[in-house]
Amino acid sequence: MDITPIEVEGYEKVAKCTDEESGLRALISVHNTTLGPALGGLRLWPYASFDDALTDVLRLSRGMTFKSAVARTGLGGGKSVVMADPEMKTEKLFEAMGKFVDSFGGLYTTAEDVNVGIPDLLAAGRFTKYVAGLSREDGGSGNPSPYTAKGTFEGLRATAIEAFGSDDLDGKHVVIQGPGSVGLPLGHFLKEAGAKLTVSDINQENIDRAVEELGAEVAAPERVYDVDCDIFAPCALGAILNDETIPRLKCKAIAGASNNQLHDEGRHDVMLKQRGIVYAPDYVINAGGIINVSVEFHEGGYDEVVAMEKINNIFFALQEIYEAARSRDITTHRAAQEVAEANLAAGAAAI
Ligand code: NAD
Repeated sequence: MDITPIEVEGYEKVAKCTDEESGLRALISVHNTTLGPALGGLRLWPYASFDDALTDVLRLSRGMTFKSAVARTGLGGGKSVVMADPEMKTEKLFEAMGKFVDSFGGLYTTAEDVNVGIPDLLAAGRFTKYVAGLSREDGGSGNPSPYTAKGTFEGLRATAIEAFGSDDLDGKHVVIQGPGSVGLPLGHFLKEAGAKLTVSDINQENIDRAVEELGAEVAAPERVYDVDCDIFAPCALGAILNDETIPRLKCKAIAGASNNQLHDEGRHDVMLKQRGIVYAPDYVINAGGIINVSVEFHEGGYDEVVAMEKINNIFFALQEIYEAARSRDITTHRAAQEVAEANLAAGAAAI
């Protein structure tokens, strides 16, 4: 196994690993550990090039620093990627990844992400103890998605207050893009609150399930940005708020779980503000999963009651961000960045 450090300005530790025996080609990026050891998922993706994989892991690990800083998880930001075809996953690949994670000596703890599930983490865990997010039976905090959905629902309530002056969702029309692991349970919370739902997905099974369980209407994927609704909840892809889609939106608020929703930070958040659309910063509203996992690091281990209390606080975190954005006439994205930067600075000052 060959582990080579890569110097990247503004990042604490980045390394590349190649392992001939297992075929592993992977990267780990630890962006910032001011507030605690870095935690972030392991993504397996058929990256077209090494540079694409590096760009992704750097961007994702930086995002984790901000997400954890605002959510006050006591953790830093990190992420890892494996360059591979999801169809070609092997146990050996994840065992080798476990050794790579272990070489960081606890600076980075890994967890689930796209194309990586609990069996893969269990294989990695044979060679490192720095694995989080395992099932309850394996001593972990379990599947993060329902917790992400609950946090997103709490954040959506705060967003409704900002946009409509009330969190009464009875009769409000919410469009869920991607009723998957997070979008579907979010839909259940919304249905219970009396919202009228429209869903849009590229997967027919997921559409059918949402129609049956939520009584939702359906919008074609390419028409989802044109639906006349109150709240748009992106729960599928990143970069969906861009030059092409923002002018089409007919909602008053955006509150969903997708990561990296803004195509260009600092530009598309401004466009949304100009259009009078309240935007719930993605890494604030979708922090329920990381908050849940972070409770594994508490003394005494995981406790669901503690986790739920912290996840419900996403409501108040967003209210503070909306208040700051309104009073200083800045975008909600900018206000969230400032909270993250202030929490990081306070953490640095305390060292
Ligand atoms: P998922 O794969 O279970 O669900 C995503 C859904 O989006 C699927 O139903 C998929 O078919 C659909 N989809 C994909 N492309 C689409 C398109 N072009 N148009 C419409 N629908 C499309 O994933 P998930 O775990 O529910 O995560 C959803 C989003 O939330 C992702 O951006 C993820 O990064 C983010 N997120 C998830 C968690 C978590 O705990 N799972 C935590 C934080 C952020």
